[in-house]
Amino acid sequence: MKDQIQGIIQKYNNDKTRLMDMLIDIQDEVGCVCGDAVQQIASAVGLSFVDVEQTLSFYHFFSTEPRGKYTVYLNNSAVAIMMGRNKIVKAFEEEAGCKINSVTEDGMIGLFDTSCIGMNDQEPAAIINNVIFTKLTTKKVTRIVSDMKAGKPIEEIRGNDFGDGANSHELVQSVVRNNIKKKGPVLEEGYETGTIIHDYLTKHKPEEIIEVIKKSNMRGRGGAGFPTGLKWDFCRKAKGDQKYIFCNADEGEPGTFKDRVILMEKPGLLFEGMVVAAYSVGASKGLLYLRHEYKYMAVYLNKVLDDMRKDNLLGENIGGIEGFDFDIRIQLGAGAYVCGEESALIESAEGKRGEPRDRPPFPVQVGYLDKPTSVNNVETLCLAVKVLKNGPEWFVNQGTKDSTGSKILSISGDCKEPGVYEVTWGFTVNDVLHMVEAEEVQAVQVGGPSGALIGPNEFDRVLCYADLSTGGSIMIFDESRDVLQHVVKNFMDFFIEESCGSCSTCRIIPVLMRDKMNKLLNGHGTSQDIKDLENWAKPLRFSRCGLGQTAGNPILTSIKNHRHLWERQVNKDVDYDTGFDLHAAIQDASDAVGRIPVAH
Ligand code: SF4
Repeated sequence: MKDQIQGIIQKYNNDKTRLMDMLIDIQDEVGCVCGDAVQQIASAVGLSFVDVEQTLSFYHFFSTEPRGKYTVYLNNSAVAIMMGRNKIVKAFEEEAGCKINSVTEDGMIGLFDTSCIGMNDQEPAAIINNVIFTKLTTKKVTRIVSDMKAGKPIEEIRGNDFGDGANSHELVQSVVRNNIKKKGPVLEEGYETGTIIHDYLTKHKPEEIIEVIKKSNMRGRGGAGFPTGLKWDFCRKAKGDQKYIFCNADEGEPGTFKDRVILMEKPGLLFEGMVVAAYSVGASKGLLYLRHEYKYMAVYLNKVLDDMRKDNLLGENIGGIEGFDFDIRIQLGAGAYVCGEESALIESAEGKRGEPRDRPPFPVQVGYLDKPTSVNNVETLCLAVKVLKNGPEWFVNQGTKDSTGSKILSISGDCKEPGVYEVTWGFTVNDVLHMVEAEEVQAVQVGGPSGALIGPNEFDRVLCYADLSTGGSIMIFDESRDVLQHVVKNFMDFFIEESCGSCSTCRIIPVLMRDKMNKLLNGHGTSQDIKDLENWAKPLRFSRCGLGQTAGNPILTSIKNHRHLWERQVNKDVDYDTGFDLHAAIQDASDAVGRIPVAH
């Protein structure tokens, strides 16, 4: 094993910034990363044992103990549970003979929870040894476990009923379906990769391209909505001998899966968008940060990159532009929602824990390896190509005043037609519900757990940055759902699980809020508890990154828009005594230090 690990370390030139790749390969090939492996890596790359261990312990898909010859990851997102996930877990447990988050005694099968895997439109789904299984039934589980016990290769267990589009490509062979229901500028057919490089980049200066993107008023499609042209301008003007273009393909917001479809169907367009960004800011290196859950695409995406190199769309003097050199590599993540935050993503790409950095300085000034780095979303980079192709006026003429152009939505939950829809900003929630044929809708979660849970009285609200902004996730819950128990609590558990733990606010307050919520759900709540929840969420806005800043949103927006559900939890017939007397509780401590408790 020592030689095997040495080979992996050498494959990455003993480079400590490639620690993620080393750990991913060791996890895959050896089955876990034990203490000896940690020591071996640390010695070889010049890090301390603790440096390596802290990266190892940060990500969901790394483990110090073997997780089974077959490792089954079952996601526990709200929509997965709605679609029958718990029944599937039970079936796996019974057939395999072990509980979730454990491994069978013979070490053959491990069952583990994980956060949303980007398959909300085809749940219940699982990842087994990096292969995706969708629309699981108890019957399918019986067969899968039987095949695992027989030691069959995972590809044979998966079968050959491949999904549509590139999912059936020989380098992918996945059962995942695209479920594209409405196409727009990104997903439409007919664009040949390289057109803009040849027809536009060769004729325009970088500054001119940035001006066109600025004129389009395009804002980043990842959720934060920062103006793309401005970001590129900052990066171009930042001092640095080396600049980087990063594509953030770490779509971990529960309910989002549109980047998965773009990556599969339009990788050439995406990589060309990275070339355009590189030309604009003066970068020579690019990195696609691909979430671990989408590892099944990596070989295919690398083939697309190879083809582009052969066509002189990557490499040296791209498109015949003298001195314009740029290339892209793929960096896999290892399961951490917070890495969707751009500075956390950069930390992760450097081989560290994915903890967001303090800002300023911003990544466009001090980013990857301390060099100026522009981090852009998958959809943003694709749209940049189309803005150059069709002109900024074309883009401005779509959408709303502050939200120009198109937006791809990932729609899931209680509706007849879940899937991917490319619409223009300005759609109302009612338009969305009509489009996907949803009926008797009780609530809609717009923008994932960090967004807003709205009720029918707000379904005329508009999808745009000025009203309901969204990175693309829309989840629908009909009247049959227990929204507090199955949605809001699930989202709070998600934030608690995914907090990196750096800020005391984000580390502590969501736990207290979740516990208070449980008290209410268990019938012990008072109306004061609802007020407490509203007040306790306030300090969260002082957290360092968006995760902590929005971690109270599931509770806050549901109290705001579904107050009756919360008030229903309060037993108004009983003058409920919480039984807790703060004065009495601290009396001993006060006596010990000789202080009189302050009256309240
Ligand atoms: Fe980490 Fe939460 Fe602080 Fe973000 S807000 S840096 S996730 S502890």
